[in-house]
Amino acid sequence: MNMQVKIDSPLQQFDVDKVRLDFPILNEKVHGQDLVYMDNGATSQKPQSVIDAIANFYYQTNSNVHRGAHALSDHATQLFEEARVKVQHFINANSRKEIIWTRGTTESINLVAQTWGRQNIHQGDEIIISTLEHHSNIVPWQMLCEQTGATLIPVEVKANGQFDLANFKSCLSSKTKLVSVGHISNALGVINPIEQIIPLAHEVGAKVLIDGAQAAPHVIIDVQKLNCDFYAFSGHKMFAPTGIGVLYGKEDILSNMPPWHGGGEMIEVVSFEKTTYNQLPYKFEAGTPNIEAVIGLGAAVDYLEKFDRKQLANYELELLDYATSKAQQISGLKIIGSDCEKASVLSFIIEGCHSQDVGMILDQQGIAVRTGHHCAMPLMSALNINGTIRASLCFYNTKQEIDKLFAGIEKAQSFLN
Ligand SMILES: *Cc1c(COP(=O)(O)O)cnc(C)c1O
Repeated sequence: MNMQVKIDSPLQQFDVDKVRLDFPILNEKVHGQDLVYMDNGATSQKPQSVIDAIANFYYQTNSNVHRGAHALSDHATQLFEEARVKVQHFINANSRKEIIWTRGTTESINLVAQTWGRQNIHQGDEIIISTLEHHSNIVPWQMLCEQTGATLIPVEVKANGQFDLANFKSCLSSKTKLVSVGHISNALGVINPIEQIIPLAHEVGAKVLIDGAQAAPHVIIDVQKLNCDFYAFSGHKMFAPTGIGVLYGKEDILSNMPPWHGGGEMIEVVSFEKTTYNQLPYKFEAGTPNIEAVIGLGAAVDYLEKFDRKQLANYELELLDYATSKAQQISGLKIIGSDCEKASVLSFIIEGCHSQDVGMILDQQGIAVRTGHHCAMPLMSALNINGTIRASLCFYNTKQEIDKLFAGIEKAQSFLN
């Protein structure tokens, strides 16, 4: 199971020690040990610039947005809308109107299910997802199917954790109205072939939603090139605060969708006879938004764009490659999700050891990994496992930390076997 990693730029150019200085939490001790944070798939740490952007908003600008009432409000609105344009460019959307603020990936997907879905999905229609999905990209569609009488069809996963493209093709038909798949699996790090999935879905007239929660921090996203209809992601997994997410949708599709939440900000004129709705993107943004988190997300985009993002990705793949070869030397360790294109996630099980027990022993050594089903219970069932130990790496991790991880695993094995 050799990982094919292409390195375009030499590692020396990437100064991980310098990058680590941007993340104050990395100096924390846990159980008296240096923190080794490898739970980036659950949430990423935040650079000083993001923390500062949030604090400065409260020190200097705090005010409600879009009210046009006074200078502070104008300034807050300006920062808020600048962040929208930053995100637009970050994913190469055609217009700022296509960037809707939500609370996260979960809310973005529910928004599509309950607006576009309620309008366009009917009895007898089919929605295709994959076995690799996070619960957030399963349950909203199950709810919609219950509400409409449509059928949810999961594409099979291969034994090595790969999306089964042949099975996907056989699921497609004129009944398919929506295909909703993850860009990168949070549980295994496997990258799905969305460049192939999207045109195949369009051929049968279906719309495509991509769950990009795990992709946004690791790969360059170009929604126009992908030609997906919707793209959802969360701020907190890409160095921004929790409570902010993005729904990208093609403008013509969003324009024809009914609003979801009703309230302030999403209206044009309200009367008891008839209310008319605001233009995009505000039509989908009822109520006072999470202003500080939007500004924090803008700062996170600025932070990422200071780097050559290809170089970040290459460094992460080099870490993955290093961790993979170390893992292969541990007897009884089985990597779940192998022999395919992956982001920097190492998911594995260890014969004779409960994942939770291994996680606890690692935690005692200051090493934060995640154990369990990773919000992907159907995937775990399909692979016939209860869960995995997941080390999800980021460009601020180091090879020395990976050495600590595997020393910790050997220690756990000697305790538990
Ligand atoms: C984390 C995650 C989600 C859910 O994101 P929230 O921020 O919790 O809304 C959905 N899909 C994938 C692939 C994820 O990793």
